[in-house]
Amino acid sequence: MTAPDFEALRADIPALHQEVHGRPLAYLDNAASSHLPQAVLDAVVRYHSREHSNVHRGVHTLSQVATERYEGARRRVQRFLGASRPEEIVFTRGTTEGINLVAQAWGRANLGAGDEIVLSELEHHSNIVPWQLIAQERGAVIRVIPLNDAGELDLAAFRGLLGPRTRVVAVAHVSNALGTINPVAEIVAAAKGVGALTVIDGAQAVPHLRVDVAALGCDFYAFSAHKLYAPPGVGVLYGRYAVLEGMPPWQGGGDMIEVVSFEGSTWAKPPSRFEAGTPSIAAAVGLGAAVEYLEGVGLEAIAAREDALLAYATEAVSAVPGVRIIGTAASKASVLSFVMEGVHPHDIGTILDSEGVAVRAGHHCAQPVMRRFKVPATARASLAFYNNEADIDALVRGLHTVAGIFGL
Ligand code: PLP
Repeated sequence: MTAPDFEALRADIPALHQEVHGRPLAYLDNAASSHLPQAVLDAVVRYHSREHSNVHRGVHTLSQVATERYEGARRRVQRFLGASRPEEIVFTRGTTEGINLVAQAWGRANLGAGDEIVLSELEHHSNIVPWQLIAQERGAVIRVIPLNDAGELDLAAFRGLLGPRTRVVAVAHVSNALGTINPVAEIVAAAKGVGALTVIDGAQAVPHLRVDVAALGCDFYAFSAHKLYAPPGVGVLYGRYAVLEGMPPWQGGGDMIEVVSFEGSTWAKPPSRFEAGTPSIAAAVGLGAAVEYLEGVGLEAIAAREDALLAYATEAVSAVPGVRIIGTAASKASVLSFVMEGVHPHDIGTILDSEGVAVRAGHHCAQPVMRRFKVPATARASLAFYNNEADIDALVRGLHTVAGIFGL
């Protein structure tokens, strides 16, 4: 297969073609949220203008069309993730809600005093705080896999943490703050060896790697649509069917029941059991269209493109005076975090913005990572398949401006 013309694909993404402060936009904040291809926008507009109705409830034609669009998106996501059946795909509000769902529904039913939940030092807050909440409630204990100086998990320490009390191992596939790709299949296999539930935060992985949940062997895998070139408001929780089937609901309402009476109610089968209330139908339709678009471009080609851009960016940014890269793992995806000597990352972000370059500055909802590397915050450039060398050149020019202003 010939490689796609990535420069030509930029024409598919309307948001890229605008100026910010009189400069062409160089959008390098894709790890926070990525922009939508025209095909995704079209699918959402078509849905809203012609096909909208509530799902699963109506005998009338539009309700059936809306249901088919929503369930069609579920089937597409199922194939995208390599799940064995559509019922393993639960639509959520995003990664955060997916992890809270597991922590609340599975955790409340299965965790007891002294049980251990293993997390890692590189987690986003949304894969820490939900576990803290349920641990406090159930008397469970959190153990943490440490990082080495490159920002890689210490796997020997991880194995040392595993034992008969380990009930959950929950780790990110790719770190949003460092870009580290964790060896998830290996982690899952070790966790299974002690009978632990495995939960993978895939928010930063699905846009950059081909993910196959069957090959990973995990019980749960969560991600958000808005980082995958689709609208915000919807996310996915893959759950192994046998595990989902054994879980109680976590929210009650319409669509998640079988029979309701004042004496008691019974629950629908997964995934409906975990989708109480009217879902974000249009956003799910947009997610289905985004997956179709990405598969059309080719996930392997996207990964190769982003690897090349990351190598280009790493070399060029490293050469700017005063820059120190945070996160130098051997295996990385699409994220370049850095600090500049004596410059607050917010100043870096503001100066870059004045030159049309969008990066993120802050703790990236990963305060333990910042603590590990003894920095209050970093500036982070994060790449998508639609970025190009010109975006990175604009970033580097902006960083030279910063270095000049601060006399580095
Ligand atoms: N996990 C990781 C690794 C993330 O990068 C993010 C978002 O930045 C999240 C979880 C939370 O995603 P959301 O806010 O879409 O729920």
